[in-house]
Amino acid sequence: MRSRSRLTGFYRLGIAERRARLLEACGLPESRLAAIDPGALPLEVADGMIENVVGEYALPFAVAVNFVVDGVDVLVPMVVEEPSIVAAASNAARFARPGGFQTEASAPVMIGQIQVVQVDDVEAGAAALRASAPSILDDARRLVPRLADRGGGPVGFDVRILAHPPGPDGGVLVAHLHVDCRDAMGANLVNTLCEALAERVASVAGGRPGLRILSNLTDGRTITVRCRIEEQDAEVRAAVASASRFAELDPYRATTHNKGIMNGVDAVLVATGQDWRAVEAGAHAYAAHTGVYRPLATWQDDGGALVGELVMPLAVGTVGGALHSHPSARFALEMAGIDKADKLAAVAAAAGLATNLAALRALATEGIQRGHMSLHARGVARAAGATGELVELVAAELSACGDVKPDRAREVLARLKESP
Ligand code: NAD
Repeated sequence: MRSRSRLTGFYRLGIAERRARLLEACGLPESRLAAIDPGALPLEVADGMIENVVGEYALPFAVAVNFVVDGVDVLVPMVVEEPSIVAAASNAARFARPGGFQTEASAPVMIGQIQVVQVDDVEAGAAALRASAPSILDDARRLVPRLADRGGGPVGFDVRILAHPPGPDGGVLVAHLHVDCRDAMGANLVNTLCEALAERVASVAGGRPGLRILSNLTDGRTITVRCRIEEQDAEVRAAVASASRFAELDPYRATTHNKGIMNGVDAVLVATGQDWRAVEAGAHAYAAHTGVYRPLATWQDDGGALVGELVMPLAVGTVGGALHSHPSARFALEMAGIDKADKLAAVAAAAGLATNLAALRALATEGIQRGHMSLHARGVARAAGATGELVELVAAELSACGDVKPDRAREVLARLKESP
């Protein structure tokens, strides 16, 4: 049986043939493709999504192939404007295919923040809030009975002191309400809860309510994805592991390293109608949570293979948000066979680890090829009769013009010998 995501030569097909193979692979009827046709989003629906709508803005919708995530073949939907990302993801997923990507998702717990200002005695206010935590949590649970029925709901409440009086805001506390949002991204859900609880929290703490909104640093809602790539070339393994260490040592490199991860993650998030700004904000804050900005994914050379691991917060939903209205986003989930938020997070993260590997491999092997090329250029220079310091001069010129051939080497050598 042909695997569902191993669509050999997909990139060589025309669009009509790709669409036919896609339908065959995901088992959807042809009529569903209307959801990704030009004009799929009716203008009046777009007008209801955001304000001041004057038109629509199209981006290509593509499918990354070869992905196996947690033992299941997945066709990965990607919407992105940058060339090479879909090819890079598909290619890296092919390398990872024997073992596939394995993921572990935490419970989908989001944080709602209730700020309390003008607290005269912050220590006493914090203690009072801690003592009232069980009853505040009970109130919170009563506000979202259906979420509790689905196995989610408020699961924790804690308090931190942010500032002692005096100060422009007096004593400042922040209470965190931890909410298991199940398959929702949860921003509206958490914001509604925080608003409903703010007066009570402020009065228990002896202050005034300040802001009440979720935190996008969703470090209670993380995904871990791992893969193992058999790689026979020890030089390639060493170069990828070294590039990974570079990112661990230097925030300037780590930022670009993480951009390579977000290439894959964001393309999946956009295709599936997610709030990618929320994920971006959370990802970068998480990358810096030790006080130094670090890579979200690292790679190690274990002797015969490259072993990669990505850990990042990924707050996504398969209900709510743009999924209410956007037909292409609903199609993307359907085509990928994704019905739960943790599966979506797993696929987006696998795409991120794949584009990260592809970028590191390309950078690392380009360096190796350049090395091979200059060795080769020296050999060609010698074969053309260059000796002593002329070997380096001829080889450098051959490498620079990219024409490492004996004829060219003889020409260059003759010119250099003639020049004073
Ligand atoms: P939503 O408001 O549409 O709520 C989702 C609802 O789906 C829940 O309230 C729940 O009643 C229902 N539901 C049905 N089945 C469910 C299931 N299996 N699990 C969980 N809930 C289920 O969406 P949301 O997820 O609360 O909010 C997401 C939206 O909020 C996004 O569009 C985001 O852009 C936006 N937003 C983000 C921020 C931010 O990130 N700072 C702030 C405000 C709004």
